Amino acid sequence: MERIPVGALDLQKPLGGVSRLPGQETPTVCHALHDPAFFRFLTQIDAQLAAEARERRCPECAGPLHVADFPRKPRGCPASVRAEYSSRLSFTCGRCDARTTPASVRFLGRRVYVAVMLMLASPPASSAAGALAGLMAVPVLTVRRWRRWWQEDFQRTAFWQSVRERFAPPVPAEGLPQTLLARFQGPTGHERLIRLLRFISPLSTASMIK
Ligand SMILES: [Zn+2]
Repeated sequence: MERIPVGALDLQKPLGGVSRLPGQETPTVCHALHDPAFFRFLTQIDAQLAAEARERRCPECAGPLHVADFPRKPRGCPASVRAEYSSRLSFTCGRCDARTTPASVRFLGRRVYVAVMLMLASPPASSAAGALAGLMAVPVLTVRRWRRWWQEDFQRTAFWQSVRERFAPPVPAEGLPQTLLARFQGPTGHERLIRLLRFISPLSTASMIK
């Protein structure tokens, strides 16, 4: 992964790595989106979150949890990782049959695009984001929907209501998700994005996205 010095990111654009080449109108696409290793690392984090959930056993009856993954049709990830992004890790209880779906840094709720794309391609009023969406063949209406999700739905989630007070000064709503990303430190752009994805991973469970 390319190392990006702290503070070198232009947060008005999608996460680091987006840069303009001389004489080019279209920014080069963020390295993270083309780096299978980055996507695999997110898979490992999800596997770890799932292992922890399984160790805690069934929240209803403490019974053993069995693998019962949901199929997903991922878009926005490199072809080489599509197979591993084709299922959302989940369990059912061997005793009471209740379902337990662990948090995820890869999927937000039932959305088909991976969470990282949702994050990168939906900054408000950013031409770089528009170009990015074009390059990744994401429909403009989809990008608009994501923007609306950050501006409206996200702020009403139980998750955001429960954590927003931790930030001082408050995170400006109109700049989401970049204004939130700006609050996370890390040695590289990827690392900062991963910290943010970990932080918002409770959103991937039904109870927190309501
Ligand atoms: Zn149970």
